[in-house]
Amino acid sequence: MQYNLYTQILSRASDRDAPCIRTADGRVYTYGDVDTLSARFANVLRSRGVVIGDRVAVQVEKSPEAIILYLACLRAGAAFLPLNPGYTTAEIEYFVDDATPHIFVCDPQKRKDLAPICESLNVAHLLTLDANGKGTLTEFAAKAETDYETAAVEATDLAAILYTSGTTGRSKGAMLTHANLASNARTLVEYWQFTESDVLLHALPIFHTHGLFVATNVVLTAGASMIFLPKFDIEEIRKNLPQATTLMGVPTFYTRLLNEEWLDRSSTDHMRLFISGSAPLLAETHKAWTARTGHHILERYGMTETNMISSNPYDGDRLPGSVGFPLPGVSVRITDPASGALLQSGEVGMIEVKGPNVFKGYWRMPDKTRADFREDGYFITGDLGQFDEGGYLSIVGRNKDLVITGGYNVYPKELEEEIDQIEGVVESAVIGVPHPDFGEGVTAVVVARKGSTLTEDSVIKALDARLAKYKLPKRVIFVEELPRNTMAKVLKNELRKTYADLYK
Ligand code: ATP
Ligand code: MG
Repeated sequence: MQYNLYTQILSRASDRDAPCIRTADGRVYTYGDVDTLSARFANVLRSRGVVIGDRVAVQVEKSPEAIILYLACLRAGAAFLPLNPGYTTAEIEYFVDDATPHIFVCDPQKRKDLAPICESLNVAHLLTLDANGKGTLTEFAAKAETDYETAAVEATDLAAILYTSGTTGRSKGAMLTHANLASNARTLVEYWQFTESDVLLHALPIFHTHGLFVATNVVLTAGASMIFLPKFDIEEIRKNLPQATTLMGVPTFYTRLLNEEWLDRSSTDHMRLFISGSAPLLAETHKAWTARTGHHILERYGMTETNMISSNPYDGDRLPGSVGFPLPGVSVRITDPASGALLQSGEVGMIEVKGPNVFKGYWRMPDKTRADFREDGYFITGDLGQFDEGGYLSIVGRNKDLVITGGYNVYPKELEEEIDQIEGVVESAVIGVPHPDFGEGVTAVVVARKGSTLTEDSVIKALDARLAKYKLPKRVIFVEELPRNTMAKVLKNELRKTYADLYK
């Protein structure tokens, strides 16, 4: 079958004058520019021997050219493999060794450090691209042809290998097909009602599913445009918000914006939609946002392996603390984590998902892939959740973060919500660490407001009346801030390591 995600999502490619990407300094890339430049890039890839199925690894700063390189990989039939620019040379070595790319594109400043790795691991070409779109890639592209016949691939061929965020352990390469990404993009455009007149304020990184696929594929499929900010910067958000109609963010975008006095009804009146995902949005943040702006943040849930799974409705109640309904065409069920038996609404269990959005498997990890799929094709997400009577899904945490103390299950989120309500608490993370009597000891790591008089005892006392005894933290530890990764996810693994000997 003739298929390519590029032709599926570039619906506006014929309207060449329509704006596609605008930078903060006022450069505009039209759909025609994107089409021409991606053809040039694809010609560079092909002339350097890239064939269908090859990996192209890319560790560059965020720029329109980086997105265009993603599109060029699709056109050439190569699997795009973006890497966090924050990764060190040693970390990159792991990924290159794992993914064996044919081409590596890096920032010019890193070329010297990466050249020996690329050479020893048989990467055929090392090209460069900087934050301003300059480098050997664009130099070669300037001399390349502007026509490129987009490769006809199978719908099940790889469009990308995207590494997971590494929140629970070492990042895994998720193999995503052209059809996986195309189906999710189409579904989201319709579900969130994106049109050509939308302007997305894009402040997310583009090495992760949120900024790369959710944001970019949705914009392109709708024929909309985006304002491309290099990163989340409050001042840039304030300046560019008036030109936008939609914003996609991780929860910290919203909590930080709530600290700004200018954020109110009049500064957000023109906005159509605020979307949040990648980490839990506190119900408190959701409500504070509504009180201040009149907008209801739309929270959705997804993961690298599955694209987006569920979303609160566009029309209808966006329930604080919930991630909404399974998307059209996507099936979600809740099962007993141990036996796999189906559970009823109201019962907490493993979230399993099946649909055209679900990936092909983990790159070079056949055993893990087999272990994470049920025989009937459902993918075991590793997240625990429940449906309510109305069909809304909510996530109670990750299976790996569940604390088992004296034989009882303690869901960290339940405890965290109680702790966060205590006067003087900014935020908290609850973990289980080895305990000689209980197996695991419930442990609360708390960030207190400056000048608060909270103590370990006062926190435990405040919880005492509200929770069963076995759920109470055995210890409360105060810290300045919680460790998070670039997607704002709390690194509980790190906390568990730090406090591993607490009860020894
Ligand atoms: P790793 O798999 O390497 O440990 P990760 O799971 O954090 O990292 P991602 O694929 O980026 O990597 O994140 C997916 C996870 O993010 C989901 O499994 C879920 O735990 C969490 N998540 C995403 N959206 C939400 C949301 N709206 N609310 C709560 N959690 C969310
Ligand atoms: Mg994961």
